[in-house]
Amino acid sequence: MKEKGTISIHTENIFPIIKKFLYSDHEIFLRELVSNAQDATQKIKRLASLGEYKEETGDLTIDVSVDKKKKTLTISDKGIGMTAEEIKKYINQIAFSGAEEFVEKFKDAKDAQEIIGKFGLGFYSAFMVADRVEIDSLSYQEGSKPAHWICEGETEFEIKDGKRKDRGTTITLHLNEDSEEFLEDQRIQGILDKYGKFLPIPVRFGTKEESQEDGKDKDGNPKYKNVQVDNLINDSNPIWTKAPSELKDEDYLNFYKELYPFSPDPLFWIHLNVDYPFNLTGVLYFPKVKNELELQRNKIQLYSRQVFITDEVKDVVPEFLLLLHGVIDSPDIPLNVSRSYLQSDASVKKINSYITKKVADRLNEMFKEDRKNFEDKFRDIEVFVKYGLISEEKFDEKVRDITLVKNTASDWSTLKEYGEKLKAVQEDKNGDTVWLYTSDQEAQHGYIESAKRKGYDVLVLDGMLDNHFVQHIEAKLEKTRVKRVDSDAIDKLIEKEEKMESSLNEADSNKLKEIYEGIIDNKIYMVQVESLSPDELPVSITQNEFMRRMKEMQKMGGGGMMAFGADMPDNFNVVVNANHPISGLVLKGDAKGKDLGKQSFDLALLGVGLLRGEGLTGFIQRSLEIMQGKKKAEKPASKPKASGSAGKKTAAKKKESTAKK
Ligand code: ADP
Repeated sequence: MKEKGTISIHTENIFPIIKKFLYSDHEIFLRELVSNAQDATQKIKRLASLGEYKEETGDLTIDVSVDKKKKTLTISDKGIGMTAEEIKKYINQIAFSGAEEFVEKFKDAKDAQEIIGKFGLGFYSAFMVADRVEIDSLSYQEGSKPAHWICEGETEFEIKDGKRKDRGTTITLHLNEDSEEFLEDQRIQGILDKYGKFLPIPVRFGTKEESQEDGKDKDGNPKYKNVQVDNLINDSNPIWTKAPSELKDEDYLNFYKELYPFSPDPLFWIHLNVDYPFNLTGVLYFPKVKNELELQRNKIQLYSRQVFITDEVKDVVPEFLLLLHGVIDSPDIPLNVSRSYLQSDASVKKINSYITKKVADRLNEMFKEDRKNFEDKFRDIEVFVKYGLISEEKFDEKVRDITLVKNTASDWSTLKEYGEKLKAVQEDKNGDTVWLYTSDQEAQHGYIESAKRKGYDVLVLDGMLDNHFVQHIEAKLEKTRVKRVDSDAIDKLIEKEEKMESSLNEADSNKLKEIYEGIIDNKIYMVQVESLSPDELPVSITQNEFMRRMKEMQKMGGGGMMAFGADMPDNFNVVVNANHPISGLVLKGDAKGKDLGKQSFDLALLGVGLLRGEGLTGFIQRSLEIMQGKKKAEKPASKPKASGSAGKKTAAKKKESTAKK
């Protein structure tokens, strides 16, 4: 038998397109051909297990080999094989049934992979790298004749009787000039490692340097005797294909090491295993996030029946879980279709919420099993948890009760526990419970101490998502407000009915304010006089909670207040304590009083790290003079001019005139 034919009258355009335009993604041809070999081999295994194929299946290893002299690449399987009729049907017709549409759609497609899969052009991707492709196949069906197919990358093909004796299919690619890189062992090894590490059927890769002397055997099959390099590529039973009950912690840890050789051990993992209403298996690991900026994405690998597809799983895995590592395998995810389609795909949505639920369940389990252990791990997982509850309503519902907060004494509470704990002391006059927090225990030490003196508890919320988290708490928890310890004068942080008496009358109060305004003379500072305990500082700096939070959220992007926070300047309040003895001295308004005022303000700046540059130098000088009791107020500054920003920030542009007396 010998037959010639034309693939399809509509497909003249297809080979040029395959050859030229799919070029950027050309390595995937090997994934496609090896996947076909895998499918054919799995089919024979299945037929054998059903008793429909009665002979021995034998060694089913798939061989990939390179012949450097002949410039061929061969993929050979012992699968079900194809008869000449089947080749005509599957390769010539079916594969091309979508060709017309393909040519049409290709014009505006960006992703070659997308198109190849969508139109079933897997096999034809071979023409990206080969001028001539041959198929040698013998079907498993009794009495089949071997078939040999050749196509030169034109629309004509030739099919004739072959000489193959063993069941299976060999695809031989005669690589074109531009594709000689695929004769290199490392290149092939690299591609097979990337896409085939966990293929279900063993794959072997070898080089046949001297095979031209061997040629084909008498039956026309390529010889493999001179294979020099011989590597088994894959672990055909990766752990996600096994039942969790068969696996020990060690197995999960080893697999993790295999995937991410240089990463520290993960904190814990979730074995995904569902077959209804969609198919999904996989293992997701919670990595140890060393520092919060090191948010690593693209660490989850997506497989379809153990064939690696991509590590861009954005649309399959909920955004907040992209920080996880591991493997997901689903034949149900439409892999090669456009992103927008994927986003609206129902099974992808289901997978998304399944994974979200699984993760939430696992966290709840851990909390219930061993709270102490959960607390220990919380620091490492809070980025996921907070990101999740902020961004996914469903996740929030499931984990809100086990979301933990820690106070400055390192005691952990759930949100509910914490709210209850505060009620007695930190309820304001409107009946709202005010949660206080620090974003930096060192920098805000003085404020924390003030709060403690009042009997208040202070949370440590110093993570990168905590601004959003705070916002979330206020939105979700009833009658709850959250303020940073330095956001207001201590008596105003939690406003109570009873007020501290002021030792100053209104006129003095106003005068004190004016004196300080004269001393400070900088628009970013707003002076307010408050009646605080004499134990509190004479002057302190606060920053409005709402303004600061918006500004910070805006800086890190998102937060929904873009326009509002856009170019907000820093704004600080200068809280002058009317009841502090120093305030009485400042009020005198003489040179000494003004110096004390300056000194107090500088101390306040120093306390929040805002005293720098000229202001700091002046402060040091003044302090030394006060220490030596020889402070002369009129001493003109022999200081260098403030450098722009430092000067502004420190409000150091004090007018010499205020010092001249
Ligand atoms: P797809 O794999 O998406 O169906 P392909 O163009 O890659 O598209 O293959 C078309 C068909 O050719 C396959 O569905 C299969 O029936 C047949 N085929 C391809 N390669 C082999 C092989 N190695 N052994 C047996 N059949 C094969």
